[in-house]
Amino acid sequence: MPLQIVHHPDYDAGFAVNHRFPMSKYPLLMEALRSRGLAGPDALSTAEPAPVSWLELAHAADYVDQVVNCRVAEKIEREIGFPIGPRVSLRAQLATGGTVLAARLALRHGIACNTAGGSHHARRAQGAGFCTFNDVAVAALVLLAEGAARNILVVDLDVHQGDGTADILADDPRVLTFSMHGDRNYPVRKIASDLDVALPDGTGDAAYIERLTAILPELSTRAHWDIVFYNAGVDVHAEDRLGRLSLSDDGLRARDDMLISHFRTRGVPVCGVIGGGYSTDVPALAARHAILFEVAAGYARWYDLVQKPGARVR
Ligand SMILES: [Zn+2]
Repeated sequence: MPLQIVHHPDYDAGFAVNHRFPMSKYPLLMEALRSRGLAGPDALSTAEPAPVSWLELAHAADYVDQVVNCRVAEKIEREIGFPIGPRVSLRAQLATGGTVLAARLALRHGIACNTAGGSHHARRAQGAGFCTFNDVAVAALVLLAEGAARNILVVDLDVHQGDGTADILADDPRVLTFSMHGDRNYPVRKIASDLDVALPDGTGDAAYIERLTAILPELSTRAHWDIVFYNAGVDVHAEDRLGRLSLSDDGLRARDDMLISHFRTRGVPVCGVIGGGYSTDVPALAARHAILFEVAAGYARWYDLVQKPGARVR
């Protein structure tokens, strides 16, 4: 079974090429996955828009209504970073539905990834920082509501702190939120996760991997996790316009490999979302996001060989 990948062409809401949010990374990521042989018909699932009932698990009903009907106040649109018209609204619903589907596929196949998602600045009452709906918080709450999971871990390695996810899930003992991020990055006012690691500017590969190596075993002792949501934001990269942590391509690959390997060898399903990445060189940015899928694909094959019920090798 190839790595299960969730996608939709309308993840790309068609912004102008010079927009601060590099919307064209979504189709370019799909191109990158195709050229790597990762996007065959048996690998791809199509996202469907998240219904209002799911969105309201994580967000205030009036905010959900405003986004779905494209009536978001200008002040909030400014905090999000773009106006919420029909294409952006649909995109937010699709990306959220995509993460729910990827989570269900991860529970079934061990690992799955969405080619969008990781909108971690969206709080309960409103969006912010290029994030409209918090797809990971919605997906976690859908799985819990359905009884598909009881203990959920969110590992957020995007360079920005996961303030929205922390806001939504703060009082929920069934979900542990962990964010490792650049201390001096957005948001200025951080909302405490269950566990936060703030890194100084210029943290390179070695120091970054060292911190991650130290923290992963601790996360595994907190509970028996039914699934981990992994925000694999690539804005930790040295060439990212908004990042400050100076990771290389090899550092990104080592990070993804360490994270996925840690949980998969313990039998914990992993749902990957792409998170942030900001660069004017969008093909290079798409290639950086593709690293998550390359690494995850190795573990999808490994599941078939080792962990799947009835697998030959045990
Ligand atoms: Zn980010």
